[in-house]
Amino acid sequence: MLNTCRGFIRKHPRKGHLFAAACCQRIWPLLTDSRSSAAVETVALFAEGQASREQLVAASKSAEDAHCDAFEHKGKVGASAEWSAQFAASTDPWFAASRACNFAFVAAGDGLWEGPEHEAQSDLLRCIFGPLPFRSVGIVPSLLTWNAGAVANVALSIYLDRDFGRMPQLAKVLTEAGCCDMDILNHCRCSAPHVRGCWVLDLILGKG
Ligand SMILES: [Zn+2]
Repeated sequence: MLNTCRGFIRKHPRKGHLFAAACCQRIWPLLTDSRSSAAVETVALFAEGQASREQLVAASKSAEDAHCDAFEHKGKVGASAEWSAQFAASTDPWFAASRACNFAFVAAGDGLWEGPEHEAQSDLLRCIFGPLPFRSVGIVPSLLTWNAGAVANVALSIYLDRDFGRMPQLAKVLTEAGCCDMDILNHCRCSAPHVRGCWVLDLILGKG
């Protein structure tokens, strides 16, 4: 499924970095080495323009050291979580996304082709990329100006507070504003978790 997003990630690297970070954040309890968890936090900051490329490279080196130590003590499979964090901190968004997710599902205990972590990662893909790799989706400008920018205000509040439980409220405001795009409304109402990089929030907030 991720392969269908490869070209899109090349054009929208932020999305690739956020997906890599989200995969690692799902296995957070397994990232017991602070060098690994700090690297994942740096990835998320880098994706948002709040950490430099040099900081990401430094974080990657620390995560690599953490993985080497883990590999020595726990072996190849046992060090999968640390490996996932190391890969996530790559400056190449496709490499980061594709490798981090693979090692994260191994760390979580999934088999190669299926398991609950695969399903959870598919939900992350649907949240971050939605239909965007397959067709362009726009937001009707009048929705953004309705009621003094109420739609964007709710979206920004959700984004900044990471209060994704309010996505159904965003659907309500969008409906009141006149939105009839069922892809957008259904995504806001879906029960799967949302993360930073959510395609609907990005669309409203003008993030790429
Ligand atoms: Zn979402």
